[in-house]
Amino acid sequence: MDPAYAKTEEAKAVAKVCPAGAIQPDMEATVIEEKVAAVVWATGWKPYDAEKIRPYGFGQYANVTTNMRFERLASVYGPTGGKITRPSDGKEAKNVAFIQCAGSRDHNYLPFCSRVCCLASMKQAAYVRDQYPDSKVTVFYIDLRAMDRYESFLQKTKADENISWIKSKPARIEEDANGNPVVIGENTLTGERYAMPFDLVVLATGMEPHSAQDAKVPSDQASQDEYGFVTGGVLAAGCAAAPTDVASSVQSATAMAMKAIHAAVKRG
Ligand SMILES: Cc1cc2nc3c(=O)[nH]c(=O)nc-3n(C[C@H](O)[C@H](O)[C@H](O)COP(=O)(O)OP(=O)(O)OC[C@H]3O[C@@H](n4cnc5c(N)ncnc54)[C@H](O)[C@@H]3O)c2cc1C
Repeated sequence: MDPAYAKTEEAKAVAKVCPAGAIQPDMEATVIEEKVAAVVWATGWKPYDAEKIRPYGFGQYANVTTNMRFERLASVYGPTGGKITRPSDGKEAKNVAFIQCAGSRDHNYLPFCSRVCCLASMKQAAYVRDQYPDSKVTVFYIDLRAMDRYESFLQKTKADENISWIKSKPARIEEDANGNPVVIGENTLTGERYAMPFDLVVLATGMEPHSAQDAKVPSDQASQDEYGFVTGGVLAAGCAAAPTDVASSVQSATAMAMKAIHAAVKRG
């Protein structure tokens, strides 16, 4: 557990609802010494802190959320039992905007592309459309990147006439008197200025590797790139090595496990 949360009331509440007693906020950090043939770094990612993108008002406007929070909102195990509603008043969110590359591919924030955000937003747009047949979704994008074999999913999403696509990096978000977030910017293709109100705005924020800060690899043992992804020295799987989806993470984890076994066998 993140030490910043371990001592909070929330952590105690989480521990209470785990019947297996697997969550122990009082557990102290200990040093365990083991001799091993290989180490696989599989420490994954954390969402980019959307509060840093000040013009988009996350943390200031209740109905501006992130793709990670939306994932919880749409989950049957989430706080609304899967009903997509807006945080301010519980109203059904039927007019939803997704802002792609929120902070990503921008040297002021997170300079790289996280590869999965476009597809994640398409998936989440489909959640909205499936839940409310009379819903409308608008996607603001710089470019759309459907990595790997997912071009057909992009085309399927594009075929839905209730999903609109606006090529634009919105300048800012404001809030109107009804608590609707208003996305303001200029359409890159037409030059038209817009100020569009929505029930809910989802910021598609990128993924930062845990290995950049809280799970750093000892620098005398391994190398990391400028963003903190592990590039060599120890074996790295999944998003510790590069932003990627679950299928590729599982593939790389299998490959790294095989390499680790190989190293162990060679050493006898
Ligand atoms: C909004 C959103 C939606 C997505 N939807 C999809 C989707 O539909 N399909 C898909 O394929 N992919 C999706 N992804 C991508 C998917 O989340 C990643 O591909 C996947 O989580 C990568 O797995 P991982 O094991 O590398 O990292 P993680 O899932 O981050 O797992 C790393 C684990 O390491 C632990 N850890 C971190 N630091 C330490 C430490 N110091 N010591 C011990 N443990 C540590 C973490 O707590 C965590 O349990 C989505 C991503 C986003 C942002």
